[in-house]
Amino acid sequence: MIDALTSLKTRLAEICDLRNAGMVLSWDRQVNMPPGGSAARAEQSATLQKITHEMFVANETGRLLDAAVNAVAKRDPDSDDARMVRVAQRDYEKARKLPAELIAETARVTGQAIGIWTLARKNNDWPAFEPWLEKIVDLNRRRADALGYTERIYDALLDQFEPDMTSAQVESVFNVVKPALVELTKGAAAHADKLSNAVLFREYDEGGQLEFAREVIQQFGFDFEQGRQDKSVHPFSTGFSIHDVRITTRVNRNSLSSALFGMLHECGHALYRLGIAPALERTVLASVVSLGLHESQSRLWENLVGRSFAFWKHYFPVLQKRFPEALADQTAETLYCAVNRVSPSFIRVEADEVTYGLHIMFRFELENEMLERKIKIREVPEAWAAKMSTFLGVTPPTVREGALQDIHWVLGSFGYFPTYLLGNLIASQLWEKIETDIPDLAGQIERGEFSGLLGWLRENLHQHGRKFTAQELLQRITGRGLDAAPYLAYLRRKYRDLYGF
Ligand code: ZN
Repeated sequence: MIDALTSLKTRLAEICDLRNAGMVLSWDRQVNMPPGGSAARAEQSATLQKITHEMFVANETGRLLDAAVNAVAKRDPDSDDARMVRVAQRDYEKARKLPAELIAETARVTGQAIGIWTLARKNNDWPAFEPWLEKIVDLNRRRADALGYTERIYDALLDQFEPDMTSAQVESVFNVVKPALVELTKGAAAHADKLSNAVLFREYDEGGQLEFAREVIQQFGFDFEQGRQDKSVHPFSTGFSIHDVRITTRVNRNSLSSALFGMLHECGHALYRLGIAPALERTVLASVVSLGLHESQSRLWENLVGRSFAFWKHYFPVLQKRFPEALADQTAETLYCAVNRVSPSFIRVEADEVTYGLHIMFRFELENEMLERKIKIREVPEAWAAKMSTFLGVTPPTVREGALQDIHWVLGSFGYFPTYLLGNLIASQLWEKIETDIPDLAGQIERGEFSGLLGWLRENLHQHGRKFTAQELLQRITGRGLDAAPYLAYLRRKYRDLYGF
């Protein structure tokens, strides 16, 4: 006789397999698929998502869950099994609220929208994408209605990416962070001649850039036996197993930082997945707990490590050996200054640490306004330009550098952007604790040793997957909830020192 818990685990493992198979289709669409495959792939994804959803929300899953709840009732509430049942139950309740039709239609529409957006972005053609965004916003409104919310429509959507967080909480954090970012951006602008980043825009062949970045991430701990790196229009990371992660990069021969920092960033995401305890494979816990925490890991490796002076003391000579002509007149100091230059720019993924948060804040406002019908979809490019000008003081010359730049809306993800800034905050909060636990952290980075740092992250964060909530993890690790202070202290210290104000 098979016990209740085993029966539930078997069913959830199969659902997990279907989800991961769907992720393979999505990865392939962005990395390998010829444009002609777009319509068929959209149908394939829609069908697979519909089947996965139906299997998960079926009464049979509910019956197995009820039996499993009884089976784990007497166990340690923090055991893997007890936590697994609780997380599965919460997922089940949420998923039951979403009609299968809505899920399939979202998959179909967003699947087709990707091809449309890619072309529209290339041709600077907003009108081509506009009707698709209209459909996607509408699908998100329907999703929010199905999921339910008490205060604002945005709450229902945000909860998908950052469980238990509300728009009001996001707003209050952003209100603390915004004046500090504005002040630092102004301070840097007033001393703009202190730092030059011209060296980053010399010529660096694509192959050399990729090889260097691969060498760095391998030393961080990215295992190419359990991961791949490819090129795509928009860099991203995904994974189909704890032992199979994928990252992508875009390379520009006239920009040294685009591929390098993009790769360090995606590597940070991948290391999180690779660090989940193998015992959690094929369970609902074998994933990251929230996108804010996920992003904390990418930003930690990209910025707190990759944009530190210690990092450049170690890697500048390595990079110079690879590009002896382009870097002949440079030093570790000049490279460190170049990669940290603060300058308001159009593209979020290439923004410096200080202005990055401002990109997020205006997207958050814009998404709210779209969902609440405060602006019409055809007004989005102008609204984007106006907000960008208010927050960053720059106006995108074309819609490609404006409202068409990000893939999130194309993929149907509204409520996602705030998690990026939350990730920066969490990264600094964790870093403060890591520096206490590893007093020689900077020394290790300067020697190109990352096993201490990665080991700390695996032990304290990665291994748990979704076993604890984001708030529980922050509490367990740092002794308190989300706190913007370490992030602001880090930025002020670093940039006042760099710019001398
Ligand atoms: Zn990221």
